[in-house]
Amino acid sequence: MDMILRNARIDARSDTPLVDIGIENGRIRALEPELAATGAERDLGGRLVVPGFVESHIHLNKSGILERCRSERGDLEEAIGEVARAKAGFTPEDVYARGRRTLEKSIANGTTHMRTQLEVDPGIGLRGLDGIRPLIDEYRWAIDIEICVFPQEGLLNNPGTDELMVAALEQGARVVGAAPYTDSDPPAQIERVFELARAYDVDIDMHLDFGHDPSALDLEQVCTLTARHGWGGRVTIGHVTKLAAVPHLRLAELGRRMADCGVALTVLPATDLFLMGRHQEHSVMRGVTPAHRLLHAGVNCSLATNNVLNPFTPFGDCSLIRMANLYANICQVGARDDVLECLAMVTTRPAALMRLGDYGLAPGKQADLVVLDCTSRAQAVAELAEPLMAFKRGRASFERAPLCLNRPGRAA
Ligand SMILES: [Zn+2]
Repeated sequence: MDMILRNARIDARSDTPLVDIGIENGRIRALEPELAATGAERDLGGRLVVPGFVESHIHLNKSGILERCRSERGDLEEAIGEVARAKAGFTPEDVYARGRRTLEKSIANGTTHMRTQLEVDPGIGLRGLDGIRPLIDEYRWAIDIEICVFPQEGLLNNPGTDELMVAALEQGARVVGAAPYTDSDPPAQIERVFELARAYDVDIDMHLDFGHDPSALDLEQVCTLTARHGWGGRVTIGHVTKLAAVPHLRLAELGRRMADCGVALTVLPATDLFLMGRHQEHSVMRGVTPAHRLLHAGVNCSLATNNVLNPFTPFGDCSLIRMANLYANICQVGARDDVLECLAMVTTRPAALMRLGDYGLAPGKQADLVVLDCTSRAQAVAELAEPLMAFKRGRASFERAPLCLNRPGRAA
């Protein structure tokens, strides 16, 4: 073997034996107790190993611009307006430098796969794409990145945007997205995005139903089109905060519809918490959709970072384990199975959403994994266990030393 990770905890249960993970040619070759093999070894001392974190929704290109923007009202309109203004000054070099900083934080938090949302419009042109695209090859040693192109400032109302969407798809964007809530004709934008997905044979990942009034839901149209065009399993909707304002029975009904049509959901807790409820001056709603309830209805769900250090979300460290913990806390997740799902929603579930066939802790799969400084999955979520090292295609991509307290009598 090229590498043997000894004494790893891989089960959710703590009463099963520890296993050794044998890695060869970038792949997991064996997973068994006391593996009889030779090679370089690391003793993990019973620590938890999970497959690499999967970031299914992050805006690399507009991360890290907080000092250039105002964030005073803290609502969606201000965020869109401020970022639109800042975008005019973006150059490919600037996008590259900020994207790289954000990407390195993601890597250092154990993320091994990423879908990055990238906007095009006549204001920014393709400069965002030009800045982000080089990162895909440069960081392949640590992370696999795919680009989802979308029209943040509207499609039908914004002449020239459609051509840029097409150009980005021609230049390798693997997913097409949407933001119908900024469009003068939301249903027509959704129709057009399905048309583009079919023309380029790409998956769909839309920002959708971002607001607090659930009386009209674009997700109904998305479900209908997904079924009509046979795009089940290839469509994701993100935010969908309106579902946080829907009674349980109706939520279960909508969940079954989404599950039947093969529409997945990504919840973006940090952004949703920051932007929702700005119409209220006290008893402010949380506005985070209860993904774990939709899992019970059969919907595949993921949790993701979305924005980092900009007016949409002026916080963030690109840690997906933090997102799992944040979600569990604000959505009041208590049942053990639901807590474990919070970890699945940043690993196996977004991997399924992105259709990563080579993913998982199993012999034959690509050796993309993270070692966490804890001994169980529930503990990882509850205590925000620190990622100590990650492997990408079997090679260590980062490492940090476990905490060491300098007790009296110990040399500092
Ligand atoms: Zn987004």
